[in-house]
Amino acid sequence: MASRKLKPYCQSHQIIVRTSQPLKKILEGKNKSSCITDWANQLADFGIEYEPRTAIKAQALADFIAERTIYHPEANQVWKLYVDGSSKQSVKGAGLLIVSSTGVRMERAVRFEFAASNNEAEYEALLMGLKICHEAGAKSLSGFFDSQLIVGQVNGESEAKDDIMKMYLQQVKEFVKNFDKFTLVHIPRSQNAQADSLAKLASSAEISAARDIIWEVLPNPSINFMVNTIDRSETWMEPYIKYLQNQTLPQDENQAKMLQKTARWFALHEGTLYKKSYTHPLLKCVSPEEGNYILREIHEGGCGIHQGVRTVIGKVLKNGYYWPSLRGDTETLIRRCPQCQYHSKIGRKPSNYLSAMQAVLPFDK
Ligand SMILES: [Zn+2]
Repeated sequence: MASRKLKPYCQSHQIIVRTSQPLKKILEGKNKSSCITDWANQLADFGIEYEPRTAIKAQALADFIAERTIYHPEANQVWKLYVDGSSKQSVKGAGLLIVSSTGVRMERAVRFEFAASNNEAEYEALLMGLKICHEAGAKSLSGFFDSQLIVGQVNGESEAKDDIMKMYLQQVKEFVKNFDKFTLVHIPRSQNAQADSLAKLASSAEISAARDIIWEVLPNPSINFMVNTIDRSETWMEPYIKYLQNQTLPQDENQAKMLQKTARWFALHEGTLYKKSYTHPLLKCVSPEEGNYILREIHEGGCGIHQGVRTVIGKVLKNGYYWPSLRGDTETLIRRCPQCQYHSKIGRKPSNYLSAMQAVLPFDK
């Protein structure tokens, strides 16, 4: 091949092929196939001479170095991640550029289908980048980000004040644990041009548009906004239930006496505590939190007409609910009700007593 490409040079010189393969025998032998005959005819123009290949010093050295060098897999396996979040007025997107340890470049544009602030979009972009790198098998990762705020927060130089930011930061920190080594460096926007343009593309282009880069739509944010804390602390009913079930009294002597006295007013039926009363049927005991819901339903709910304290308490009892702080809770709720304040009666009475005015002369004004 070389002799054909470099024909002008090769024709004026003698070609010596040093090889350890029996080429001469094959080309000049008698039992040739048609293909080898073709080659032999073409190469005959050049008057090639074949010599056995002797040991080459440089080659031996190269082989030796290749054989004896200790290979450090981690040293070279640093992945690079360039991230940028972009936000137009209504649409947010993120651009990711991932360079693997072997130099393979991956580009990805992500469009967010939920409302997010600029910083949230940046965090989402970072999280997505970390996720992809982890899935691709990166162990050592260098992140490059043009948002100084987020780089500072992740590196612990600045503090996340917003609750949502804190949740995002927590999630990033959790995810970083998947990597053996992780660094996040702030770079100016000019050096992050490719991720930036991908992010802009993600937030501006139509989803249906055909393109070569990997295109993704993220329907929900990565953090879970619905945090429901369930209060498992002991309610006021627990001591009564324990006493009525197993006659268990609290450690404190005064409390024990008090419980024994008042427990006569309570009854336990199928695990539910009821309060006895003179005029009402059994009242179901509820926690103050449940009671607050009942109060709001009665006072300002669908059929609520913003009644006063006594009426609301009467309605609660008539509906068959009881908790010890019923009166206090009702007073607080009604005092704080904005509607009641807007529409309350304004007193128009004078602050001092009226005094009669006497006319000095008849018909005097
Ligand atoms: Zn009200």
